[in-house]
Amino acid sequence: MTDTAIEFTGVEKHYGETRAVAGVDFAIARGELVTFLGPSGCGKTTTLRLIAGLELPTAGTILIGGRDVSREPASSRNVGMVFQSYALFPHMSVLDNVAYAPVIRGGDRREAQARAREILAMLGLDGLGARLPSELSGGQQQRVAVARAIVQQPDVLLFDEPLSNVDAKLRRRVRAEIRDLQQRFGLTAVYVTHDQEEALAVSDRIVVMDHGRIAQIGTPHDLYDRPNSRFVADFIGDANLIEGEVAGGTFHAADLALPVSGPDGPALVSVRPERIALKAPDAAPLGTVASASYLGSRMEYVVTTGFGDLLVSAPITAQALTPGAKVGLRLDGAVRTARDGGMTA
Ligand code: ATP
Repeated sequence: MTDTAIEFTGVEKHYGETRAVAGVDFAIARGELVTFLGPSGCGKTTTLRLIAGLELPTAGTILIGGRDVSREPASSRNVGMVFQSYALFPHMSVLDNVAYAPVIRGGDRREAQARAREILAMLGLDGLGARLPSELSGGQQQRVAVARAIVQQPDVLLFDEPLSNVDAKLRRRVRAEIRDLQQRFGLTAVYVTHDQEEALAVSDRIVVMDHGRIAQIGTPHDLYDRPNSRFVADFIGDANLIEGEVAGGTFHAADLALPVSGPDGPALVSVRPERIALKAPDAAPLGTVASASYLGSRMEYVVTTGFGDLLVSAPITAQALTPGAKVGLRLDGAVRTARDGGMTA
């Protein structure tokens, strides 16, 4: 038995001229939840479909549980899938929906139903087995879809944008439930979303994709605190990207000077809006408040400086700053980022 649940080596998937997946390498450990995140068309759904066996790779190798499944169809892989549409059978009871696959695969009907009942209870759905899917809330339907996928004890559970049909208020709760379930059952899960907050909330690790390639793989903290490219910095949360020059370990841009690592020369640094503090205007770097927005839990300012406009997220204070106010700035947590969108050394 290997600790690696899924391994991609040099995987490509072409559709005619389109390279949906353009040479991808990664490994997912057993019990890990890994999210594929990226803008529309970056190749995340294709990657998920390659794991499921719904697509076969044009090149490269896919291992699941150490076994080469590159040329095997979905039916011979033990992979469960939860779709955004839930794909429940509308005319079947919840219990029959969950027991369906084991019965179809030749299992005993009573046994399958007993197992389905057990799983429904574990998911807090006991007593709902006799209902039709249409008689459940969106969140409950989502849990039935999960129950239906895990009843088969899959090696890997795949989630394709599972929350896109759940209304915004429920989304937080359901995503926490999915994460809780995955951890309780020790499931290996691969999750696709284009919502960066959802990815940060549920994942052990995130794979950010861009044009069929992996831009960065890391924990939510890694990606947020140490994005390795302009693309990742911009895609995960808000980032202030500042162009300047490094000389002797100090990054300079107009009246800004920050300690950074790496070689001398032109450089780009990224600073998160909540890592900028606004102070009295008595020392450089200085700025002028251009706009101030009250967002309930925090203030959001745009501050004009000699090195560009900065987005600043600040706690609510008794006296909010108003446009035109002169401020001093303190920038923390600056990271050097690749200037061309590629990787830093
Ligand atoms: P979205 O968030 O919009 O679903 P995605 O990141 O999941 O995007 P994919 O669905 O993986 O992106 O698509 C990657 C690229 O491959 C796109 O350019 C898409 O148009 C193309 N593509 C995907 N499936 C096919 C197909 N069956 N035939 C032709 N081109 C395809």
